[in-house]
Amino acid sequence: MSIAENILSIQSTLPAQVTLVAVSKTKPIAALMEAYDAGQRIFGENKIQEMAEKCEAMPKDIQWHMIGHVQTNKVKFMAPFVNLIHGVDSLKLVQEINKQAVKADRVIDCLLQIHIAEEETKFGLDEQELTSLLSSSEFKEMRNIRIVGLMGMATFTDNKNQIKKEFTHLKSIFDSFAVHNSQFTVLSMGMSGDYQLAIECGSTMVRIGSSIFGGRN
Ligand SMILES: *Cc1c(COP(=O)(O)O)cnc(C)c1O
Repeated sequence: MSIAENILSIQSTLPAQVTLVAVSKTKPIAALMEAYDAGQRIFGENKIQEMAEKCEAMPKDIQWHMIGHVQTNKVKFMAPFVNLIHGVDSLKLVQEINKQAVKADRVIDCLLQIHIAEEETKFGLDEQELTSLLSSSEFKEMRNIRIVGLMGMATFTDNKNQIKKEFTHLKSIFDSFAVHNSQFTVLSMGMSGDYQLAIECGSTMVRIGSSIFGGRN
């Protein structure tokens, strides 16, 4: 199937409350334009240089999501245009995003990444770190960053029960914060291999790459 057909077929299966982020990392602009022409307006990238080049070259009604791990020294390059940063996992990074957002005269929406997988390698906060970040006085004084929800990645496994357990855990953390916080509206979980399961577990935003654009090297 073509990129356009993939987009339309995935979109047709998504419930109305679920947003599709087309993960276009490593793919050429021609491929992104095919998705754009099929109506896709949200693209996810994991490298700032690549995202900035694509933003520059492509139509201005696109929303750019940074889905990769963000180094503090790269924040200044995305602050002028990024629409959502998914992988925020430290107070230091939150501070830098707020600082660069002030300079860019913007309010930048972010998701805090929660560690739900078994693997040690995946980034993210645990529940306690999340609580202490959100209740810290430093965070409460920031005016140019808005935490709109959470993001997480399940363990890379074929074991559906394991994945379901991890997504359900993330959803329960999300719900426990959302009740006190009306800005908490986005739960980013689910990729090509597990997005249907993620949606069953309460995802409101799926990040899909290979099922749209084909495999990456
Ligand atoms: C690459 C990537 C995706 C997309 O993965 P696919 O399996 O190709 O759908 C989603 N989320 C993050 C954080 C990624 O880095």
